[in-house]
Amino acid sequence: MIQPLSSHDRVFVLTGAGVSAESGLPTFRGADGLWRGYRVQDVATPEAFRANPEMIWQFYSERRKRHATVMANAAHFALAKLEQALGERFFLCTQNVDSLHEQAGSQRLVHMHGRLMQTRCSRESCRTKPFADERLYMQRAEIPTCPQCGAMMRPHVCWFGEVPYSMDRIFEQLRICSVLLTVGTSGVVEPAASFVRMARMNRAKAIYVGPEEPANRAFFDAVVLGKAGEVLPGMVKELVG
Ligand code: NAD
Repeated sequence: MIQPLSSHDRVFVLTGAGVSAESGLPTFRGADGLWRGYRVQDVATPEAFRANPEMIWQFYSERRKRHATVMANAAHFALAKLEQALGERFFLCTQNVDSLHEQAGSQRLVHMHGRLMQTRCSRESCRTKPFADERLYMQRAEIPTCPQCGAMMRPHVCWFGEVPYSMDRIFEQLRICSVLLTVGTSGVVEPAASFVRMARMNRAKAIYVGPEEPANRAFFDAVVLGKAGEVLPGMVKELVG
C-alpha cells in the first residue's frame, strides 16, 4: 500500500529502459535486447567512434529511425501527471535517450545519458551546444562537421567510459527528495544504481516499479512488481489523488 504524498514531499523519479518497453523500444538486457548482434564496444565508446564514425552513425541512425515511430505509453503519461500535481517538488532523471517523457508532457527532467535526437561536436573542449537533429547519416561524407572547430559531429549520447550529464543537479535533487520512485531499471548500470543508496542516506522512502526485482532490491522500502504502464497510473492516483 503506497501512502499519499504530503504537501512537503519532494519526489525524485529515476527511469530506465523498462519505462519505454511498452512503447516498443527494447531494453538493454531484454530477450530482444538492443545490443544483440553488436558488441557494445563497437558502438558505444569514444574509441569506436574515432575508429569508425560511419559505422557508429549508421547504428544511431537506425535507432533514430525506430524512435521516430514510437509513442509514449501510460507510464510516461502517469509521470507527467505526477509532475503536474507536484510542480517544482518533482524531478525526473531518465537514463533513456528517447524523447517519450517529453512527448507525454514532462518538463522538469534531465537525460543523464543524453538524447538520441541530438547531435554535438566530438571535440571535448569545443563549446558548441548539442542541437536537435533527426537526420540520418549513413555515409561518411554525410557526417556534419562542427561550425566552430571543424571536428566531426557525434550523437549526443553518453558512451562507456564517459561521465553522465547533469550530475550536479541530480545529486542536489537526490539530497533534497523525500521519495525516490525508480521505474524499469535493472539496478546494475552505475552511477544510477547507487541513487537509491544516496537518497536513503537522506532518509528518503524508496519505491521500485518493474516486472522483476532489481539487482539493488535490498535498498528499496517497497517493490511493486508489474509493468510500468499498468502500475503507474494507479500508483500516481494513490500518491496525489
Ligand atoms: P536494462 O535493460 O538494464 O533494464 C531494464 C529493466 O526494465 C529490467 O530491470 C526489466 O525488468 C525492466 N522492464 C522490462 N519491461 C518493463 C516494463 N514494461 N515496465 C517496467 N520495467 C520493465 O535498462 P537500464 O537499467 O535502464 O540500463 C540500460 C542502459 O541502456 C541505460 O543507461 C539506457 O541509457 C540505455 N537504454 C536506453 C533505451 C531508451 O532510451 N529507451 C533503451 C535501451 C537501453
